[in-house]
Amino acid sequence: LRQGLGKTRRNIVNQLKSIVGQGPLNQAAVMEIEALLLQADVGVEATDYIIEALQNQIKQAALPPDAAIAYLKKILRDMLDRPLQNCSPIFVPEKDRLNIWLITGVNGAGKTTTIGKLAHIAQKSGYNCLIGAADTFRAAAVEQVKVWGARSNVEVIANPGKNTDPAAVVFDAIAAAQARNTELLLVDTAGRLQNKKNLMDELSKIRRIVDKKASDARVESLLVLDATLGQNGLRQAEVFAQAAQLSGVVLTKLDGTAKGGVALAVVQQLNLPIRFIGAGEGIEDLRPFSSYEFVEALIG
Ligand code: GDP
Repeated sequence: LRQGLGKTRRNIVNQLKSIVGQGPLNQAAVMEIEALLLQADVGVEATDYIIEALQNQIKQAALPPDAAIAYLKKILRDMLDRPLQNCSPIFVPEKDRLNIWLITGVNGAGKTTTIGKLAHIAQKSGYNCLIGAADTFRAAAVEQVKVWGARSNVEVIANPGKNTDPAAVVFDAIAAAQARNTELLLVDTAGRLQNKKNLMDELSKIRRIVDKKASDARVESLLVLDATLGQNGLRQAEVFAQAAQLSGVVLTKLDGTAKGGVALAVVQQLNLPIRFIGAGEGIEDLRPFSSYEFVEALIG
């Protein structure tokens, strides 16, 4: 992860060290940290929060460099962990029952790749896994998901017909999952943001089918977000947050950006936990999110 976050890290670490390394943390240094955070795409809201916390602290005591860094790390970790107050800190499918993870996100964010990587992790961890290819609008998406399925030996339920109803694919995938004692069903959904109403209708229809046909399943709805889009990605995220009952975020392409700080903006603005991060195109390049690991990779 340290390597994956290399670009952001190079951007932040050296400057941060020189800012706080000059003596006790003071007002001028806090201003410089503010600029640094904005530059890493932490976003105005999250940056304000961090700066306020730092200012409150220096009012009480001037922090020597090491303590200042440690304190900053703690603020960041606490921010990233805050959404976990409402849900489990550990994000794994429950064994011996059906878990359904709906994967949403705008086209190009890395949805298909993430599903492939998740299927791989699940398979390796001994889960009985299945993929539902409900992004039926893009024929290529279905083909691509099949390629990923084949890589990790996970079967893909798809409907070969033209203009297939995604909800019908979800229905079939749930039926297959129930017949086979599947433990994790990963569902790829459409990501056309051009038509917001269609997208919302489609996602809510899928959700209705899931709730009705698999009422005893544990359902998670994960939004895949491209970290390289920074604040723009967040605007898209808000549309999905309205359309799908999101329970978490997968942040992809952290390897390709100097704006990895967007993770903090995501959590602050959406109040959703980040559950996985993608830092590469390969099947192994997805890992469960840990605030500790992330903050260490960012500024440790
Ligand atoms: P989808 O349209 O949302 O299904 O997106 P895809 O899964 O097809 O991914 C779009 C592009 O992003 C592909 O070229 C992927 O290889 C690439 N990609 C996905 N995740 C990552 C990541 O974590 N890091 C990098 N560098 N590329 C990624």
